[in-house]
Amino acid sequence: MSERYVKVKVQIEQMKSFGEDAEKEGVDVEDEQVPVSSSPPASVSPDPPNITIAGRDAANTCKHRGKSRIKMGRDDKNKHTSDVSLHGSGVSAHVGRNLNKQGHERTLHIRGTGKILQGKNNENNGVTIHPSKNNQDARREDGFKLARKRRPVTVDTSKAKTSLEALKLSIKQLKWKEFPLGRRAACDIYWHGVSFHDNENVVSGQVNKFPGMIEMLRKINLSRAVRTMQELFPEEYDFYPRSWILPEECQQFSTQIRMVKENDATVNPTFIVKPDGGSQGDGIYLIRDPSDLKLMVGSQAKQAVVQEYIQRPLLIDKLKFDIRLYVLLKSLEPLEIYIAKEGLTRFCTEPYQEPCQKNLSHVFMHLTNYSLNVHSGNFVHSDSQSTGSKRTLSSVLYRLAAKGVDIKKVWSDIIALVIKTAIAVVPELRVYYQADIPPGKPGPTCFQILGFDILLMKNLKPVLLEVNSNPSMRIEHEQEVAPGVFEYVPSPVDEEVKVGVIRDTLRLMDPGSKKASISQLRAGGLEHGEEIPMEAETQERSPDEGALPSLCLKQVYPKYTKQFNYLRLVERIAAMFIRFLGVKGNMRLGPTAFRTFIRTCKLSNSNFSMASVDILYIDITRRWSGTMPDSREAGMGLQAFVEAFFYLAGRRFKSLALREQVVSLLELCEAQLESPSGVEERRSVSCSRAMPRAIKSQTLGLTNPQLNSPAPLRRAASQDYRLHQRLKPRTLRANVEN
Ligand code: ADP
Repeated sequence: MSERYVKVKVQIEQMKSFGEDAEKEGVDVEDEQVPVSSSPPASVSPDPPNITIAGRDAANTCKHRGKSRIKMGRDDKNKHTSDVSLHGSGVSAHVGRNLNKQGHERTLHIRGTGKILQGKNNENNGVTIHPSKNNQDARREDGFKLARKRRPVTVDTSKAKTSLEALKLSIKQLKWKEFPLGRRAACDIYWHGVSFHDNENVVSGQVNKFPGMIEMLRKINLSRAVRTMQELFPEEYDFYPRSWILPEECQQFSTQIRMVKENDATVNPTFIVKPDGGSQGDGIYLIRDPSDLKLMVGSQAKQAVVQEYIQRPLLIDKLKFDIRLYVLLKSLEPLEIYIAKEGLTRFCTEPYQEPCQKNLSHVFMHLTNYSLNVHSGNFVHSDSQSTGSKRTLSSVLYRLAAKGVDIKKVWSDIIALVIKTAIAVVPELRVYYQADIPPGKPGPTCFQILGFDILLMKNLKPVLLEVNSNPSMRIEHEQEVAPGVFEYVPSPVDEEVKVGVIRDTLRLMDPGSKKASISQLRAGGLEHGEEIPMEAETQERSPDEGALPSLCLKQVYPKYTKQFNYLRLVERIAAMFIRFLGVKGNMRLGPTAFRTFIRTCKLSNSNFSMASVDILYIDITRRWSGTMPDSREAGMGLQAFVEAFFYLAGRRFKSLALREQVVSLLELCEAQLESPSGVEERRSVSCSRAMPRAIKSQTLGLTNPQLNSPAPLRRAASQDYRLHQRLKPRTLRANVEN
């Protein structure tokens, strides 16, 4: 056993975070990809891997819950669930399910107490019996006696769909009350399987989906939202691969790639094409030349994103993998974000090679989707959390730590990526929110669990692949028990991760809890640019939660407000946009409201007349309406308004860089809005959807020469230089071998 191994092992044990599987593996495992730094291994502190890994007996523990069915093909799956988890991880919900397969000796970690109980397993007819189950139950009972003397929280689970099983277990653990068929009276919490609108007419309580989240996280909209942030903060948002939106940016894509190749013959990028509403890898393909784009489905243009392909991912066991991280968006206003301390990693099933013409179609080499790889003959269903084709994030981080990788930095980068992504999508979500739940409407309020898919590059930089609005919360996986006959088999590790995430989400949303306001007051954190520490989680449970495990969700916002607040510029623009929407339920600004905005903020003058304002409105609105075919109403949407705002900022503060221009204009507008005349003017906002006759006649046939390319296209074109930089081979960090 090497000295380094001992050091790492001691550190990990100090964390009380890792279990037998990972330890057994240690550094003996050959991994040519992950370099060993000459410095001592990262001192691992409890946070990301604040996770107890324990062995388990997947096959035996839950077979009794299996359900047979004949496979219907992939189409019968819920399209909104983008990943079916198989071998999952063990996070905090260890009470009751930590089984060491080899010795049948059980280690029971009670999270938050640091206590470890041990006992022997008995097996009976293939069903594992937990000998000290009574102990566990007794402990849990004690906790629960304390837990809840008040009226139990009520949960409507009638629309929970595939998350139902995990939800039921969570509710049971919390001793809350489930209403599987709904309830005539209002419930405290409504758990929806797909969207905010699954139950109509909910006017109180809390719903586990935000209005507009599905729309916002479609690939095109996410790309647009991140792109806006990239314009303002190119360095902060370099975690998202360069993307073009099809079909509208097809020409830009071709031109830019040709230019890049002409400028530097050594650059030979690959691109990945993803259908806009796709999931589970459906319809995805790789190309090396823009002429290989498949732009049409029948006579219709395909809506898709074409994206720079990350050619050099970090490999483990020579395989590409990605990370699924669960993130709770607890509230939009104030912004509150939690990250689950345990996640999953999904592995490819064919050894990775950098893309070349010959291997472009090898999906098992390039795509990490479980739903694809499970069909490969090489898929490994493993009972261990640190081997096989699906592993825990902690086991992967452990392995990297053992190789000398600074996993604190990796985790800190991942948290930053999550917060920045949330900051990119929140502005538009606020617009959807006020449309469905306008101020003055009693409720409901919303929260949502999101699934972030993240790839680690070879230089350990995390890259955002996508965010799933409906990550699979299934705790069963499909298994072929006889040719063509599939059975849903419970997956204990999925159960541990996902029940933990759902249960702790519910705890955080407990209407009786006073923690929300406390966490809001605690806003603060680090200065901009500081690394996010992996300090131990502060105990966020209330005294009445008894012996429940400590939360597996870590608050990252407002905790790190200081570090990230400066990024929330578009949100300030959105706040202004919403103020001028005027009529409840609108998502689009009419021409009169836009004029009112300009007048109230005193943005017109002799150089920029109200006629020019009208032209600006028409130009921008017309272009954006063409790019948003599914838009609900006519008028100027938020993205178009942001475009207009950037344009106005550029006019007004010519000598500054874009970010400073926008900040200056925001300050100017906000000051005007707070002035007595601003407040008065806002009261009279009218949101006429009709185009005033005068504007129509003024603008017919006119276009503003500075705006004559579609706004999103103009933005894309302005980034050639950055694209070129991005497509060049990246500088690797010092401690990483090539
Ligand atoms: P889907 O929603 O269909 O799963 P994703 O965006 O998650 O679409 O992509 C599917 C898979 O393709 C990912 O899990 C990842 O393995 C791979 N992938 C996606 N984007 C990239 C990229 N830019 N570079 C490298 N691999 C990628």
